[in-house]
Amino acid sequence: MSILINGIGVSSGIAIGEAYVYSREQKEISKYKVPAAQHKKEIRRFKKALSNASEQLHEIKNKIAADTPADILAFIDTHLLMLEDPTFDEGTVSNIKALSCNAEWALNLQSKRLVKVFDEMDDPYLRTRKDDVLHVVRRIQNCLTDTPDHIPDARQLKGRIIIADDLTPADTLMLQHQKIAGFVTEFGGPLSHTAILSKNIGIPAIVGAHQARQLIKTGETLIIDGRQGMLINSPDKRSLKHYRALRKEEIARKALLHELKNVPAVTRDGKAITLYGNINRPEDIRALRKFDETGVGLYRTEMLFIEKNGWPDEETQFKTYKRALFRLKDKPLTIRTIDLGADKEIQDTIDQGPMAHNPAMGLRAIRRCMKEPELFIPQLRAILRVAALGPVRMMIPMLTNVEELQQVLNLIEKTKQQLRAQKIRFDENLQVGAMIEVPAAALSADAFAKQLDFLSIGTNDLIQYTLALDRIDDEVNYLYNPLNPAVLKLIQMTIDAGKHAHIPVSLCGEMASNTQYTRLLLGMGLEYFSVQANTLLEVKHIINHSKLSRLRPQIKKILDHHSTIEIEAKLNRLNQHESDKTAN
Ligand code: PEP
Ligand code: MG
Repeated sequence: MSILINGIGVSSGIAIGEAYVYSREQKEISKYKVPAAQHKKEIRRFKKALSNASEQLHEIKNKIAADTPADILAFIDTHLLMLEDPTFDEGTVSNIKALSCNAEWALNLQSKRLVKVFDEMDDPYLRTRKDDVLHVVRRIQNCLTDTPDHIPDARQLKGRIIIADDLTPADTLMLQHQKIAGFVTEFGGPLSHTAILSKNIGIPAIVGAHQARQLIKTGETLIIDGRQGMLINSPDKRSLKHYRALRKEEIARKALLHELKNVPAVTRDGKAITLYGNINRPEDIRALRKFDETGVGLYRTEMLFIEKNGWPDEETQFKTYKRALFRLKDKPLTIRTIDLGADKEIQDTIDQGPMAHNPAMGLRAIRRCMKEPELFIPQLRAILRVAALGPVRMMIPMLTNVEELQQVLNLIEKTKQQLRAQKIRFDENLQVGAMIEVPAAALSADAFAKQLDFLSIGTNDLIQYTLALDRIDDEVNYLYNPLNPAVLKLIQMTIDAGKHAHIPVSLCGEMASNTQYTRLLLGMGLEYFSVQANTLLEVKHIINHSKLSRLRPQIKKILDHHSTIEIEAKLNRLNQHESDKTAN
């Protein structure tokens, strides 16, 4: 009998193949006493497990290195770095000493502590980093308990769909090396490194398919639909035929979109649109360049700070930004200054005491930087210096008023003077822009525009602050809608302010990556989009099939409505009509 199971599709594509249920042994961790005289020996045992775990990862890296790009291998490096991180090492060692307990138990306690830190982060991406902690801990525990952790060999796996409880990025890379057709895991979320990796390497994948290992047996025929997050086991002939046809269509569609790589984004009536990508680290540029050799409209620098778990020094930042710039090969790089606080935290502030009651409204982003300029200046210096090497722009997040903007501009000027006095090379004419992501900034966009080189609309926050809802609170999720007329008015005001001042206005929030809104934004006059790499070609496809002279009056009419539901209905109709026309 065929069964349909739902999970979360994290890497689109359809795979059809035989299932391989991969269950690994995992020993239960129990606590036992280790007398003080044995502490040293127990610590040695733990350190040995750390070095074995590291050896295992190096071995995997070596095995797959020949045909795997360096940026993909970097997913393994994240775990190698974690193994070297003192938080694991020192925390576990002090647990062994303080509790006189075995290394497994001590590590478990430490991992719970770390998971809690990540769990309390508001940012969904950072929250998911707890998966990495758990993956690394499992590897160390397996080393401590002598539990083998190996993937079956290639002959068993080629062309198969793997069903597992959870996969680490290293497992995923090994499996891809063994040419699997796709994978399904019972646990893990869409933002886990395993999910991101599967998208990067293009294997159809589903996570969060609970009980999949109980419902599916090795050898059964499986279909997985990575876009819908759906798997069907033992499909009937009709389903098989249907999905084979879909797979064919999908391959054709991908090829069609791929033809748009490096083709300029230009509307049918000749308006050139700039389409950049968003990145979190220099390594993300590889994925971006797979779709287009374009620039970066938003480089979120938080990851560097979070990975260092503190404020990295000027040199570390300079080298990291330079790496990003060189990877872009002369395409523009927009570096956003650090947006710490609220959903993106580092240990130093966690250690400083109780969190603000309302962190999203608290000392976040530029507010935090201006409170501690001595911590911020190294970033300003690093950006100013790297800008001397290529087309770099600096973008300030979460500004709310012109006085604050003036203070930031003064600090940039002071930093320039410092560099000048030290005879250190930097870009005297570095372009500075602001994220418009709070309503106050959008309402003052004309004043901002007069003093800046560009603006970029951050709809993720603009929606949250305009509609007074926490962007990660599921309870109020239903209100989170970019089509709320108040949000649209603020976006329109910002676009208009930029045009008035003759400076570019881009949109780098998630709204830019959602093709449902591409025509709306074009019709509102947006000319610069910064999007997620994997949606870039789809957005370009719509741009290149749109005619502004036809869109503008239709969008204007839609914007006259006062209700989100009406706007949504009208926009859906317009989208449907336009895409039908494109298809015919
Ligand atoms: C935004 O707010 O839209 C944005 C791009 O910034 P972040 O999501 O990093 O807050
Ligand atoms: Mg933001």
